[in-house]
Amino acid sequence: MARPKASRPNFASRNQTDPTLPTSPQGPWKLRKRNGLLVLELEAFGRLRWLVYGFSTRAGGVSTLHGQSLLNLSYTDWDLNQRVEENRFRLQRALDASEFALLPLRQIHSDLIELFTAPAARTPHGDASLTSRPGLLLAIQTADCVPLLVVDPKRRAVAAVHAGWRGTLARIAEKTVGRMQLHFGSKPRDLLAALGPSIGPCCYEVAAEFVTQFSSQFADGASYFDSARTGEEPNPLEWLSQMPPGHRPPPKTVHLDLRKANRSQLLAAGLAERNLFISDLCTACHTDLFFSYRKEGPRSGRLMALVGIRRHQ
Ligand SMILES: [Zn+2]
Repeated sequence: MARPKASRPNFASRNQTDPTLPTSPQGPWKLRKRNGLLVLELEAFGRLRWLVYGFSTRAGGVSTLHGQSLLNLSYTDWDLNQRVEENRFRLQRALDASEFALLPLRQIHSDLIELFTAPAARTPHGDASLTSRPGLLLAIQTADCVPLLVVDPKRRAVAAVHAGWRGTLARIAEKTVGRMQLHFGSKPRDLLAALGPSIGPCCYEVAAEFVTQFSSQFADGASYFDSARTGEEPNPLEWLSQMPPGHRPPPKTVHLDLRKANRSQLLAAGLAERNLFISDLCTACHTDLFFSYRKEGPRSGRLMALVGIRRHQ
């Protein structure tokens, strides 16, 4: 007797995770196809029905560069404004957020934080934004810097942060949590934070002076850098070169871990470790999937991290 066939999963669904992708994120992160685009999503955010959010990826847009079709989401010298607008339209449609007012910032690597209470007529200067008003879509543009989304499930409030090295040094993540407490009565222990794809410590080479700058601002600042090159660990090469201790030339460059620095800031601001979700996807290692200014130079596109609150949920 023939056994009944087991029912097969419906792979035609447009929201499936794609197992054929060159880069498969691990743990709570998932890459999903949404209306022809690939969006990086987080399980902990997906459970909140009132929340709209997503981290964009490289492919699927109408911009063209080096013969590729790209989803460039920022007005850059090499791209046409109409194409960027079409790309933004597609991303909003992919997130089922076409009716939202998109609110990007004129990012300047500062610690300026904008509270949005209504759609803005002009794009304000700043590097973080927050709102508790439904229908507004906060947007951060990156190509290596850390895109950080913060969600308060209790108060239904959201924030988006752009944290490069300058913003990180200026404590923009910590200050944004402070502003959420001030405006929405958020309790840091309730907050969920997602750090999207950014340049990893594998690829983020900076001048050695950065160690002093960060150490003067943060008690654990030295730990954001690779220890072998900051001189904290014994250097095995000293044995080989037979140079006497203390005569090793100081390193000119070090590698900075921006994720670790921002994680540390969020913990200091009172967030719980279990509520921090940090993507380990490096934008410079994965230009198949993301944009990297370090790797690609001025003719690189920009990714977007979006977060907003749905009406009637
Ligand atoms: Zn890397």
